[in-house]
Amino acid sequence: MKKNAFENWLVEKKRLKPSSVRHYVGAINSLSRASGVDLFNTSDAQLIDEYYEQYGFKEKDATGNRMYISGVKHFKEFLKEINVSNELIIESVNYEANVKHELNNIDSVPRLSYIPQSRPKYKKVSKQKIWERNPRLASEVIQAMNFRCEGNPVHDFFISNRTKRNYVEAHHLIPMEYQDDFEYSLDVHANIVSLCPVCHKKVHHGTFEEIIELVGNLYAERKIQLQKSNINISFDELSSLYK
Ligand SMILES: [Zn+2]
Ligand SMILES: [Zn+2]
Repeated sequence: MKKNAFENWLVEKKRLKPSSVRHYVGAINSLSRASGVDLFNTSDAQLIDEYYEQYGFKEKDATGNRMYISGVKHFKEFLKEINVSNELIIESVNYEANVKHELNNIDSVPRLSYIPQSRPKYKKVSKQKIWERNPRLASEVIQAMNFRCEGNPVHDFFISNRTKRNYVEAHHLIPMEYQDDFEYSLDVHANIVSLCPVCHKKVHHGTFEEIIELVGNLYAERKIQLQKSNINISFDELSSLYK
């Protein structure tokens, strides 16, 4: 099942030659055949190590070009990465659902606060920290911004069925994955912006030039609030995070 994904990962992420990709996929296939367990259907890295030793692949590597151990190493790294991605997806699905839920619960326009906050909690997955985000803060920003896109206030594409207001999403201007580089919380009003779905996609998937134009406008709007929140970052530093 994960075979194609592993293949694509070796090509896209590891930039390997087709011959290496074939060897590494072939190595995991051989381990699967020898053990009778389809390793492309497992997430158990330890099992792979066990089979590698148990079915004589260590000996084969000792006399060959070590393609089995290289295949195993790459496959384990791949499993680790999809494990982290899964956790990130779960976190973001829950977060987005909870932001929408919170949007139904606010009745007066909230006042935004720029008092510095201590770093949020995090969960560790394969050595990577996944920082907790408070959906209420995002919903407060969206309300305070009156459901406008901060990328461009004329961006109103459609009315959200849930809120009956212009559809917008929350984005962390300094992405949460950089929390370790900051002494104070990035999950604060100052760092959360309200974006229409097009600007939000653009800031994640656009060309660097397009992203930077948008991020530059957002940064100009938030620079002082970020400083008040003890988040100090220059525009050049912020731009480099989007490279
Ligand atoms: Zn975003
Ligand atoms: Zn927009």
